[in-house]
Amino acid sequence: MLGLMQQWPLLCHKILDHAARQHGDREVVSRSVEGPIVRTTYAGIRARALKVAQRLEREGRKPGDRIATLGWNTARHLEAWYGAMGMGGVYHTLNPRLFPDQIAWIMNHAEDKVLFTDLTFMPLVEKIAPSVASLKRVIVLTDGAHMPETGLRDVVAYEDWLAEADGDFEWRGFDENTAAGMCYTSGTTGDPKGVVYSHRSNVLHAMIASMPDAMGISSRDTILPVVPMFHANAWGLAQSGPMIGAKLVMPGGKMDGASIYELLDTEKVTFTAAVPTVWLMLLQYLEETGKKLPHLKKVVIGGSACPRAMTEKFQNNYDVQVIHAWGMTEMSPLGSLGTLKPAYADLKGAAQLDLQEKQGHAPFGVEMKVTDDGNRELPWDGKTFGRLKVRGPAVAASYYGGDGAEQFDEDDWFDTGDVAHIDPQGYMQITDRAKDVIKSGGEWISTIDLENLAVGHPEIAEAAVIGIAHPKWDERPLLVVVKKPGKDPSRDAILDYMKGRCAKWWLPDDVAFVEEIPHTATGKIQKTTLREQFRDYRLPTA
Ligand code: ADP
Repeated sequence: MLGLMQQWPLLCHKILDHAARQHGDREVVSRSVEGPIVRTTYAGIRARALKVAQRLEREGRKPGDRIATLGWNTARHLEAWYGAMGMGGVYHTLNPRLFPDQIAWIMNHAEDKVLFTDLTFMPLVEKIAPSVASLKRVIVLTDGAHMPETGLRDVVAYEDWLAEADGDFEWRGFDENTAAGMCYTSGTTGDPKGVVYSHRSNVLHAMIASMPDAMGISSRDTILPVVPMFHANAWGLAQSGPMIGAKLVMPGGKMDGASIYELLDTEKVTFTAAVPTVWLMLLQYLEETGKKLPHLKKVVIGGSACPRAMTEKFQNNYDVQVIHAWGMTEMSPLGSLGTLKPAYADLKGAAQLDLQEKQGHAPFGVEMKVTDDGNRELPWDGKTFGRLKVRGPAVAASYYGGDGAEQFDEDDWFDTGDVAHIDPQGYMQITDRAKDVIKSGGEWISTIDLENLAVGHPEIAEAAVIGIAHPKWDERPLLVVVKKPGKDPSRDAILDYMKGRCAKWWLPDDVAFVEEIPHTATGKIQKTTLREQFRDYRLPTA
């Protein structure tokens, strides 16, 4: 027997229709790439997104065409996204922080037809556009007055291009499983892989993200998505913001402490989200200037582990609640959030901070499990760790072009490449990336735990742990250390410090001292480079 309810396909442009109808005068404020702060509303964005869709169709774009964007978070970027989706096109966010060759490779792989770009990236676009054979049109997100001189063909200023449409257009209808957007993983191992979001997965993800025990946002919030739209859909805020009718404040290309503070203050932002690096800059700015955060209530921190000291500062010094979150491009991206369940609601001080070091619990729509190497499920006891696998309506079922098939198993579980444990209340904690974990005599050693322990030593500035080949145990840990300036801890003193604070068989076999530990563009320790550096290292125990 079938239910007798209406078919109402979950389509992304319905989010914008709803925003324009129910929250039409709610503001979207952008720090424009040209400089000034500019203001529009959801009704304004919808009217211009319709023109984008009409204009794209008029120049021959078809459903399924990939429409790339190289843009900061601005209202124009939103208009381009919703316009592309509303005519059945597929927005494709490009990460400008990648190397030009990588961006060109990704554009060719996705066969992008159109590129919307911010002025900032024109030098980059001039380099890559000639090598992207599928590209028919470059639209610069600015007006005629700000258009730069360029040798590129088929380039036009967004405002001039848009002025040729009257907006008399109806969103195209299609199945909710139609592709809506694309984003490539950063490709730290091998070539980047394409994740293809559907209208249905984006709409469901936006609903999941907004729930009280997820981001917990509402029409009364003013949201500043510092996390870029090119970093996994601004963690869904470009869709959940309009869905719930929150005021949006888009930071453009300026993410330094002073610029972010200015927006938080003048626009009275109540909710914001970004990676730890951004918050380090803001907290430093606040400490230098003595300024406070009277309007801000909540900050979501993820992308890499949120340091305990950061949570402590936000909560104790500025009365801002921290939500530690974990996710990935393949999950649209939210996987878990660290809001407090009743069992933990009374935790105070250090005990609460301990809990907040965990990456949190999965909302409805994300299933999780941890497994051992034989794919056997491990208990949720808060200590047994294994490969973290997930599934849900906003989790990738495969990569574009069938790449990376080994990460998906027959029951649709997606192997995240992270190693984690889950406690009886469902709180997950990442202990490593699968490719970094050390396998010693068939057992696993968490490099992150050892690193956290080592940096607790008062004379160590930074620490990284990698596995070194061992004839008996396969691999044993090597601790790589940067000393604090003017300090000179010995190998034995460091190992003595760690003894008794970790399992005996976890204790590193040796300590190596270096001037500097290599980092990626997003500030994560670059273990591949470090492993390469210590490829021929012989442990004293070998
Ligand atoms: P990128 O490599 O560009 O950061 P993703 O955002 O998809 O791309 O990265 C996802 C990965 O980032 C996760 O698999 C995990 O290893 C790491 N990560 C994300 N959030 C956290 C967090 N809160 N704590 C620790 N690691 C995290």
